[in-house]
Amino acid sequence: MPTSVPALVATSTTGPFEHGTVERRDLRPADVRIDIAYAGVCHSDIHTVRGEWGATEYPLTPGHEIAGIVSEVGEGVTRYAVGDRVGVGCFVDSCRECPECLAGEEQFCQKGVIYTYGTVGHDGVRTQGGYSQQIVVDEDYVVRIPDSLDLDVAAPLLCAGITLYSPLKRWKAGPGVRVGIVGMGGLGHMGVKIAHALGAHVTVLSQSLSKKDDGLRFGADEYVATSDAESMRPLRGSFDLIISTVSADIDLDRFLGLLGTGGALVFVGLPENPQQFSMFSLTSARRIIAGSNIGGIRETQEMLDFCAEHGIAAEIETIAASEVDGAWDRVVASDVRYRFVIDTATIGA
Ligand code: NAP
Ligand code: ZN
Repeated sequence: MPTSVPALVATSTTGPFEHGTVERRDLRPADVRIDIAYAGVCHSDIHTVRGEWGATEYPLTPGHEIAGIVSEVGEGVTRYAVGDRVGVGCFVDSCRECPECLAGEEQFCQKGVIYTYGTVGHDGVRTQGGYSQQIVVDEDYVVRIPDSLDLDVAAPLLCAGITLYSPLKRWKAGPGVRVGIVGMGGLGHMGVKIAHALGAHVTVLSQSLSKKDDGLRFGADEYVATSDAESMRPLRGSFDLIISTVSADIDLDRFLGLLGTGGALVFVGLPENPQQFSMFSLTSARRIIAGSNIGGIRETQEMLDFCAEHGIAAEIETIAASEVDGAWDRVVASDVRYRFVIDTATIGA
């Protein structure tokens, strides 16, 4: 018999959340049951529930930054035991056979990765996410949270952390590499911390200077307001790598122009609308435009270990379940410092 678990449930694009339940399956041999302690609020949750990325099926419980404690294991589980501190990120299954899965890049599974919420799994059941008190996941899609990271500040690493770590590694952020991070919200602030720890020269490109002190504290070498043309002018042609975390429409030509010859503008931010750019912005300096999507399980574990080693965690504001609707509005207004994390014990309270 599936277990009914308290959860925040979205029933429409407009909200508010209801305190309801989701069903968690009985354990299969490879499954672990996780008591969720904290769930981060990602802008993707908002895009999804508000229908900005296409139609969404309700009821839906979002949440893919999950940190908790293993409370039960299936008979075939080998890597986790009851009491272990674990995390679950953006996906909970994949085909395990295609070249991408075999390469540890399950997020690009050719048969379609099974996202943590809102995807029909191989068993025909639609997944439901982490704004809930418990989840059941195959151990192959679970990662270990190092002891030195508290669960609340570790939760956002499961999406925001890996989403920046993966492209920073792929595009070789390190000493002598000039990295720009556009937007300093949940993803962006993790990008600043990780790029700094990798040894890169980091510049935050934010709408205003209102978060400058924080950015410098997170490890940025420079912090520039994109609204200030005067400060932007000297930056033309000065970056090797720019990662955009912006969730809204963005002037691509402007940011491409900041890249030096052969530089790359990598998108992780996923605005609702298609965006345009001039081909001249690429050809004039052999520039590259690219995208990146979270990271595989192996790389997610690597990122958690890296963060533990370098003392990196998310800057969070912990909220009760009753505060999530208001928190979402603050995220959309770029008024997040820098990730909301839900104390899941408050669901149903
Ligand atoms: P967030 O906390 O809201 O951060 C986005 C930041 O973008 C804001 O803090 C703001 O930074 C900037 N921004 C927002 N609106 C803007 C506008 N109109 N013009 C210019 N800048 C603006 O969101 P998030 O959780 O970090 O997610 C960011 C985006 O990445 C979302 O679209 C999300 O869906 C996507 N995402 C993608 C992946 C992936 O794997 N590809 C994973 C997770 C999330 P400033 O105030 O500093 O300007
Ligand atoms: Zn996310």
